Amino acid sequence: MSEVLSFDTVVVGAGQAGPFLAAKLVAQGQKVALIEARDLGGTCVNRGCTPTKTLRKSARVAYIARRASEFGVELGPVKINFAVAMERMQRRVDESRRGLEGWLGNLKGLSIFKAHGRLAGREGADFVVHAGEARLKAPHVVLNTGTRPWSAPITGLAGHPFLDNESLLALRERPDKLVILGGGYISLEMAQIFRRLGSDVVVIERAPRLTAREDADVSAAITEMLVAEGIEVLTGVAVQEVTSGDTPGGSCVVLSDGRKVQGSHLLVATGRVPNTDNLGLDSVGLKTTERGYLDTNDRLETQVPGIQGAWRHQSAQRVHPHQLPRSRNRCRKPGRRTPERRRSDQDLCDVYRPSIGTCRAVRSRRQTLGRPRQTDLSSRTRHERCQQSQRRERDRGCNQTSDR
Ligand SMILES: Cc1cc2nc3c(=O)[nH]c(=O)nc-3n(C[C@H](O)[C@H](O)[C@H](O)COP(=O)(O)OP(=O)(O)OC[C@H]3O[C@@H](n4cnc5c(N)ncnc54)[C@H](O)[C@@H]3O)c2cc1C
Repeated sequence: MSEVLSFDTVVVGAGQAGPFLAAKLVAQGQKVALIEARDLGGTCVNRGCTPTKTLRKSARVAYIARRASEFGVELGPVKINFAVAMERMQRRVDESRRGLEGWLGNLKGLSIFKAHGRLAGREGADFVVHAGEARLKAPHVVLNTGTRPWSAPITGLAGHPFLDNESLLALRERPDKLVILGGGYISLEMAQIFRRLGSDVVVIERAPRLTAREDADVSAAITEMLVAEGIEVLTGVAVQEVTSGDTPGGSCVVLSDGRKVQGSHLLVATGRVPNTDNLGLDSVGLKTTERGYLDTNDRLETQVPGIQGAWRHQSAQRVHPHQLPRSRNRCRKPGRRTPERRRSDQDLCDVYRPSIGTCRAVRSRRQTLGRPRQTDLSSRTRHERCQQSQRRERDRGCNQTSDR
């Protein structure tokens, strides 16, 4: 067995918080280990915010170009070079990751382990953490292991080729028809992007409305926006089975009401689960919430002194906690329309995450504080509060809701 390397802090997972925390700790003179199983930057940089916001820019350019004549600009037919758009996206991702790698690689006192990290009990006052073959120990451990896509248990899905947010972004040929299961923020953002890049898109959501956790008026505005762009939205209908489609490699989604939806590609965006199942939490007596998240207090401490999470997961907080406080975009009310600015002019991530998300975050904070819920999305005070909250959060760090 290899020798045990001692650190002041071991950070497992180099997503949003891990790298910055590690940098801060080494700046304070600590010896820190940062363990990352895949790519530095985690989901956001490699598989989430950065690629989608880059691709969204291509989609937006296509959308505006198609409407150019409305603005007095004659362009002729708009052709999409999907592979070029995807390669541009990948270049941005690579640049971002390389920037992070370069910065972290030069930090004195920081050791980066590219391996799966796993708690392996205690040695005196220290926690033992395995990073692949290496054995590390430290009195403090921070877990920033994030989430991964989860696919709903649907008959036929397991043996069927389907895409998640990562494999969708790895495509270099545009799907002719993209069928999307799930009506949450990842699904809808992809729906709008791929529609604007020229795919036919169908979104299937089991709940009676899209973004079912948001207020009804918000769901309605989003649905209207997507339908106006030619996206087919089917809500309130369960998926009975997934089978092979008529086209080679295609899919057929059989709905509970008997309808069949054929597509060349199937994206399953039915949720995400925390990466806590293979972390050795038992070895230190750490329990998760029912849904597998770390249970932390306001100081991000777990029940085991010395082990911290990267953020607080609250059951009342329904929007992914990390995406909201980071919003940089202005608060936009989905319903605001002018002749020049149609509802469908807006990109989903403008409408959905910043305004709704922040409002919901405000609401969940109010609930936590035991204050009554405020539901009027359009109220001036709420809008102002959104803006105020975003101004505050803007100072805290990166967000990827803007075009790239
Ligand atoms: C398609 C998509 C688009 C998104 N768009 C936006 C957006 O525009 N704006 C926004 O704010 N948010 C967006 N998000 C959400 C954002 O990506 C997440 O909120 C954010 O990445 C969460 O950060 P994290 O640090 O918790 O987890 P992650 O970024 O997932 O990082 C966790 C890291 O831990 C590593 N890891 C896990 N287990 C281990 C282990 N045992 N050992 C070692 N390493 C481990 C993983 O490999 C990963 O690198 C988007 C998400 C997706 C999927």
